[in-house]
Amino acid sequence: MAQAKKALSKTSGKNNSRPASRAAVKTYQNYINGEWVASQSGEMFENINPADTRDIVGRFPLSTSDDVNAAVNAAQGAFDRWRNTPAPKRAEILFHLGEILIRDKERYTADMTREMGKVLKEAGGDIQEAIDCTYYTAGEGRRLHGFTTPAEMRDKFAMCVRQPVGLCGLITPWNFPMAIPSWKLIPALICGNTVVIKPAEDTPLSTYNLVKACEEAGIPPGVVNLVTGYGESVGAAMTNHNALRLISFTGSTATGRVVASACAERNAICSLEMGGKNAIIVMDDADVDLAVEGAVWGAFGTSGQRCTASSRLIVHKKVYKQFVTKLVENTKSLRVGNGADPKTDVGPVINNDAVEKIMGYIRIGRNDDGAKLACGGKRLTRGDYANGYFIEPTVFTDAAPDMRIAQEEIFGPVTTVIPANSLEEAVEIANGVRYGLSAAIYTRDVNRAFRAMNEMYTGIFYVNASTIGAEVHLPFGGTKATGNGHREAGTQVLDIFSEWKSIYVDFSGKLQRAQIDNVESSHSA
Ligand code: NDP
Repeated sequence: MAQAKKALSKTSGKNNSRPASRAAVKTYQNYINGEWVASQSGEMFENINPADTRDIVGRFPLSTSDDVNAAVNAAQGAFDRWRNTPAPKRAEILFHLGEILIRDKERYTADMTREMGKVLKEAGGDIQEAIDCTYYTAGEGRRLHGFTTPAEMRDKFAMCVRQPVGLCGLITPWNFPMAIPSWKLIPALICGNTVVIKPAEDTPLSTYNLVKACEEAGIPPGVVNLVTGYGESVGAAMTNHNALRLISFTGSTATGRVVASACAERNAICSLEMGGKNAIIVMDDADVDLAVEGAVWGAFGTSGQRCTASSRLIVHKKVYKQFVTKLVENTKSLRVGNGADPKTDVGPVINNDAVEKIMGYIRIGRNDDGAKLACGGKRLTRGDYANGYFIEPTVFTDAAPDMRIAQEEIFGPVTTVIPANSLEEAVEIANGVRYGLSAAIYTRDVNRAFRAMNEMYTGIFYVNASTIGAEVHLPFGGTKATGNGHREAGTQVLDIFSEWKSIYVDFSGKLQRAQIDNVESSHSA
């Protein structure tokens, strides 16, 4: 929502503060029914480089509910043909899509870093997730397993098959601008659904690249439709559209709740992937250097803007001092800068709203919570930083578990160290937040590792690794305020994008009444 300020009128292009040559800025379109079209409003918004706000990445359609209606109509028109295309044939197109993503990975990587800020290596990882998802999921085209099971009566056959849900609306955030759309889009397609996708307003280009690749791969018109614009208009129009049988949403817990209410109102299926406040537990027998390395990567990778970011470090008192000293030293050595520079470790945060939110939490940590600011804490505004959204990697120490910085999702380069006396206490602290996405433990003791695995109430858990780094063939998602019981990735994602149909075939040639005739016949047998 932050960039609502950047809306431009179709004719005036008023946004005078920017020195960049307007003529040089590329204009993009929506993709509806196999055509690249302008928004019906004719208005546009700007996609801006968070490392240098003078750099306008592109102008995208500021769409409205009219565009959503057109996209839904297209998805409706394409549905029967697509669902009746044999799944192995759908898979062939998706395998081709994977090849295109590999071919153009370098270009997509540069585009992503430019529009979103994450360093090139991580942007490449984001594209790689989309590639992995495409190949893995396309393989399901020759499986999509259902099951057969005995029927109660003679001469009767029972089986269960998956069928597509129908028309799906996909709403995605900006922090994994190709990976997350792909984690929804590709499973939706292999199951035979048609989709309307709305990327985050901060990062429409990476989803545009994905949809463009879908077009090249030969996905038929109307099967994939892209509508760019704002959450409160395009997103809300989607969540309220009666023809969209399913809304798959990833974003903040606050927005997820709005989406879920709208879906409940019209009885639509709704899958939600939302916020996190993930903890690493470091035990007194841990390899402290390894734990510090994992903590720095987990806390400051993607500038801390991952749902799985290691934003709490719960450290046994016996290694606390050693851990904090090394953590602060390593954090101070991180190079903050433009993600396009290969030497950069930590890029900018996404936009000015994020700067204000993160700096607000840093103030809360220092002033209200009373935690100790061990390093960082400042916005960087001079020299190369002058035109971007840069914040120093920040470590708070000596924090209490109930402090706001230890409870609320900051979604920036800030982590909080909390001391603990035992595994039991550490687990209690780690579980003591409203979210339940990811957690980790560093220990050399297998008993402690298994105890933590058993006790942590999260959807993802790591031993001797950071809280980030999910792989596409394992289910992904969280408990409590992180999700609503669904899992993306793995084969479990198929349960979001397909519905079960139970089929009974009676070949007895006579009426056989369930729960009646079999009872009588078994009694008389
Ligand atoms: P938001 O909730 O602000 O936005 C997510 C998407 O929802 C965007 O496309 C947004 O559009 C759209 N949206 C906003 N308002 C509405 C509305 N009223 N109706 C429908 N759609 C709407 O999240 P962010 O983009 O800021 O992403 C960060 C959040 O995402 C963090 O909380 C993070 O933890 C979470 N996340 C969770 C993941 C998980 O798998 N659990 C993975 C990645 C992120 P617009 O951009 O125009 O505002």
